Amino acid sequence: MKKALVVLSGGQDSTTCLFWAIEKFGRENVCAVGFDYGQRHGRELMCAEEICRGEGIGYEIIKTPIISELSANALTRSDIPVDEAKPDGEPPNTLVEGRNLLFLSYAAIYAKTHGMTEIVTGVCETDFSGYPDCRDIFVKSLNVTINLAMDHPFVIHTPLMWLDKSQTWELADKLGVMDIIRDKTLTCYNGVKGDGCGHCPACFLRKRGYDEYMERKKCTK
Ligand code: ZN
Repeated sequence: MKKALVVLSGGQDSTTCLFWAIEKFGRENVCAVGFDYGQRHGRELMCAEEICRGEGIGYEIIKTPIISELSANALTRSDIPVDEAKPDGEPPNTLVEGRNLLFLSYAAIYAKTHGMTEIVTGVCETDFSGYPDCRDIFVKSLNVTINLAMDHPFVIHTPLMWLDKSQTWELADKLGVMDIIRDKTLTCYNGVKGDGCGHCPACFLRKRGYDEYMERKKCTK
């Protein structure tokens, strides 16, 4: 059986991907890594750690502080407030330039070192909010690049790429982990676990998706 490495931040998306990977590859073939890059809320990594401990999944935190030293943005600098909303097409000030490029490259190094070929990430083009390295074309391009860079048959899986937030909730429900995702993950830019602060852009997307899915579920019953 192939072994899979999940890039796990402790948020809704990556945690849903963790359970997707457990179902696809088998619990004994899955482990996860998180990145400590000086983000405002190191607390999300604690959520990831707690979830992995509960599931018996190995979890390692890789320190990459250089990312926040190079770029100033609202996720890594507590003196920059998170934008509540931006005009269409403009990236929000939570954008950390090149973050997924670096995370996936580090994950690939880790995966090869530990004899794994499958890499799972929760990036998503549907709600990509102007983050260019969440797009499918970027992930496909990087997949080719890391295979060439390390001469290893990596496959990057993006189970959420074409799902909107309500469909991500639906996937969590199908995987039987709705409660874990709702209560134990941290998506909020203000660092509030579970339902979050309720007014930051991340909370807005999460709640709107949840409400949409619940409405749809009620109608199909
Ligand atoms: Zn929030």
